[in-house]
Amino acid sequence: MKIAIAGAGAMGSRFGLMLHRAGNEVILIDKWADHVNKIKESGLKANFNGEDVVEQIPAFFPSEMEGYADTIDTVILFTKAMQLDDMLQSIKPILSKDTKVLCLLNGLGHEDTVKNYVAEDNILLGNTMWTAGLTGPGEAKLFGSGEVELQNVYEGGKEAALEVVKVLSEAGLNAKYSENVKYSIWRKACVNGTLNGTCTVLDSNIANFGATKATDKIIRTIINEFADVAEKEGIILDREEIVSHVKTTFDPNGVGKHYPSMHQDLIKNNRLTEIDYINGAVCKKGARYNVSTPYCQFLTLLVHAKEEILIAQ
Ligand code: NAD
Repeated sequence: MKIAIAGAGAMGSRFGLMLHRAGNEVILIDKWADHVNKIKESGLKANFNGEDVVEQIPAFFPSEMEGYADTIDTVILFTKAMQLDDMLQSIKPILSKDTKVLCLLNGLGHEDTVKNYVAEDNILLGNTMWTAGLTGPGEAKLFGSGEVELQNVYEGGKEAALEVVKVLSEAGLNAKYSENVKYSIWRKACVNGTLNGTCTVLDSNIANFGATKATDKIIRTIINEFADVAEKEGIILDREEIVSHVKTTFDPNGVGKHYPSMHQDLIKNNRLTEIDYINGAVCKKGARYNVSTPYCQFLTLLVHAKEEILIAQ
């Protein structure tokens, strides 16, 4: 399959590398000059489960997509949420009437952005538990395992979704077809919505946040706000199961010792966050459905205030 990875940062590098190693024709598209130039010069380097590997994957700047001659079967979107619209705009030249577009970003409501650029039958929506990191331009650190769930959002796209599932699975990405991917996306958004903003504002790892007396009330209230809004979109979340699931991350000897990715983005790297697409998206949808979301609103404002204080970019 000819696959374009639109956003070849941490996650895009993981998917690009694994799909390329499995024999697919992969191209990487990114606007980060040092990163793209490094990959053009000497390939994408990675520490892949402890082994140093180099994959010679063609890398391009978005501007080079103008006049790109080959037909792309599938685009996998992997920007940060606030960069998605720009990316779609710049890859318009490679979106043919048959190109499938799989969106694997964290957060809610991306299908509304994608459908401004892609025919409805070609849109696939997914959720992934894989993780990835970059250690520098052209260099990734890829440890552990994960999985991908995906589904066609609109009728008519199931065959294409199954084909993409097959290609991802053959590359070791453990993909499966989901009959209700939106449930999984909302469930993951609840995890991010309870841990990311809170640990960022509190400058705390997950275990330390999990151990406070206030935490139970905070996470229950946020999950209830998410669930009330999801219900308006026909998605009935199992609130207690999600509360218990979030609490499993508090183990100080497991996930708990880590800082959520939003903390790493903002506190460690002074980068803008995806809060508007997690808690912020719930506020926005809540306002539309007349559902009150005060905790999500306050947390979104606090994270934006922190972005301003740190002059994040
Ligand atoms: P990242 O910042 O490492 O990568 C995004 C890449 O997109 C960057 O290299 C950036 O230069 C590029 N980009 C942005 N806008 C562009 C544009 N208009 N044109 C060209 N290139 C552009 O981010 P990431 O960590 O890979 O995360 C991507 C998504 O996956 C996010 O939604 C994130 O929440 C989600 N996610 C990340 C992880 C993880 O472990 N990193 C795990 C699960 C989900």
